[in-house]
Amino acid sequence: MQLFDTHTHFDVADFDHDRQHLAEQAKRVGVDALVLIGFVESRFDELIHTHQQLNAWDKVPTSYLAPGLHPFYIEQHQPEHLQRLEQVLQQHDCVAVGEIGLDTFLKQHKQPELFAKQQHYFIEQLALATQYQKPVLLHIRKAHAETIAILKTQKFKLGGIAHAFSGGVEEAKALVKLGFKIGVTGQITNPNAKKLHQVVQAIGSENLVIETDCPDMTPLCCQTSTEHRTRNTPVNLPYVLESLAQTLDQPELQLAAQLWQNSLAALRLKF
Ligand SMILES: [Zn+2]
Repeated sequence: MQLFDTHTHFDVADFDHDRQHLAEQAKRVGVDALVLIGFVESRFDELIHTHQQLNAWDKVPTSYLAPGLHPFYIEQHQPEHLQRLEQVLQQHDCVAVGEIGLDTFLKQHKQPELFAKQQHYFIEQLALATQYQKPVLLHIRKAHAETIAILKTQKFKLGGIAHAFSGGVEEAKALVKLGFKIGVTGQITNPNAKKLHQVVQAIGSENLVIETDCPDMTPLCCQTSTEHRTRNTPVNLPYVLESLAQTLDQPELQLAAQLWQNSLAALRLKF
């Protein structure tokens, strides 16, 4: 079984003391690849360093790099950070631009000025993705209609993944139509996450990928059980697969093979 953790922040300091150990454990439970995703320019050096470290170690998942400026951190982004992003795209082997998008979860981000700034950085990064022929990893919270509208007006053609999807069935279908796969996190292990269960059943396994979004979004089983660590790491990815297989009523092995192919397709990779 080959699993692809399509969304991780495995570069953050939470993992500095045991990253190699966790990476080896992840590989042992079937995680053969992961994407390291950017969020602020000030962490790009660490992101690249972790990516190189992972790919220098033996018996760990293959790392793929996706630098980007996250909408939730909009206050921190500066025009020169877009130039730095372009430099990273030129100088390093990047699989995608991410994570980018729109997020109006916080009240202050709904204010016209900051929301306009989010839209500006989103559009600029879509342009960079097009220029360098990369798919994008989308972060969308409480702004699905606006995000879909921008993808359409910008005529973005390279697709990618809508990560930790929190929208409804119609929004998921619209994104699939625009060439995106829908990213499913440990949220799927929560039987009360009814909307997410509806979405995955409506769009089907051929349009899904899985992710841990570590260190956020710990699967429910790992939050309550005393046997498993409470920290979210790529080692938890099989729990996401297991719950998704139950929701879709599909054999785990068959689903894993489909999700692996979907991940390669979304990231335009050949393995
Ligand atoms: Zn993320």
